[in-house]
Amino acid sequence: MSYNINSLLIHGGVDGDVTTGAVNVPVYQTSTYKQDGLGKNRGWEYSRTGNPTRDALEKLIADLEGGSYGFAFASGLAAINTVLSLFKSGDKLIVSDNIYGGTFRILDNVFKNFNITYKIVNTSDLSAVESAIDPDVKAVYVESPANPLLTVTDIAEVAKISRKYNKLLIVDNTFLTPYLQRPLTLGADIVIHSGTKYLGGHSDTVSGLVAVKDKELADRLYYLQNAIGGVLAPWDSFLVIRGIKTLGVRMDRHVANAEKIAAWLSNSGYVSKVYYPGLESDPGYEIQKKQADGAGAMISFVLDEKYDYKIFFESLRLVTLAESLGGVESLVCHPATMTHAAIPADIRREVGIVDELIRLSVGIEDADDLIEDLKQAIESSVRR
Ligand code: PLP
Repeated sequence: MSYNINSLLIHGGVDGDVTTGAVNVPVYQTSTYKQDGLGKNRGWEYSRTGNPTRDALEKLIADLEGGSYGFAFASGLAAINTVLSLFKSGDKLIVSDNIYGGTFRILDNVFKNFNITYKIVNTSDLSAVESAIDPDVKAVYVESPANPLLTVTDIAEVAKISRKYNKLLIVDNTFLTPYLQRPLTLGADIVIHSGTKYLGGHSDTVSGLVAVKDKELADRLYYLQNAIGGVLAPWDSFLVIRGIKTLGVRMDRHVANAEKIAAWLSNSGYVSKVYYPGLESDPGYEIQKKQADGAGAMISFVLDEKYDYKIFFESLRLVTLAESLGGVESLVCHPATMTHAAIPADIRREVGIVDELIRLSVGIEDADDLIEDLKQAIESSVRR
């Protein structure tokens, strides 16, 4: 029997503990396992290679994403590192023009040293994606909506292009989670998450997840996961499973709050620009509606020039200035000096990540309280 996402969030993967009947998968806090004889084990040998708590999370993310195989890592970047290790010297990736700064950093300062290169492309422009493909390109790497400008890429259309040229399509689904968008079912080959964000959901653990459908790809990723070793610990695996159980109710509130705040911001007279694909005026609105069940809860905006964004950050009381996103609490950040500082200033400017850009991760507090806080902080920041 196949379940809908709200049931899978709670019962997907490994449902409870077969040995004891515990309704939660226990934390198997062990590094190794007794072997009954040479070459005779009970399915587990060593916790880098496999751990029952991590295994439950890996099966869960595979179920949620409509995949067949899942992998859990010590951070989103450990997941990205492992996926990028599928490639070899001489290979090239096409990468969305606004992506998380850390993803850019690992491509630019780590993999480029091994001659695995990248080409930045506006992946919302399908003809730009197609014309960027050459024999060295082995994959297209997309974030949608992208961090931090919430640019939407048509995943199904990019999947068609990737398939036509026999390239892999990798999608970072961190901003929407499988509750709102399932890239594998839209035709992507690999889906990546920073589980640190909405999946964990409580800003209390750092983790990364990957899901795929294809067995051969899964075998290669499993080999790399074990060979590189950036695996998620049992306790953190437990925390992410626990977070995922409430993902549906949290996302519903996150999105409802974000829709209310984005509408308020764009009619407030306080801002010169709002980026949110749930606004009808947003260029990504129609594609977002077609490919996802909501626009998520990340909003970026630029204050009108009569307000000083530095004073705005200092004047907030309920919303917290911090790195990260996707937790129950609302967080605000300054991409140019925080999440996207690793991207050189000229590239940042070129893709529109201006110094005045503010990124808001809308939490699940009361929306009116959040609006009140944003309003008082903006009004306190009038330039004198
Ligand atoms: N992908 C996206 C879209 C992110 O926003 C982040 C972190 O902010 C990452 C990946 C990296 O994840 P982590 O911080 O868990 O390594």
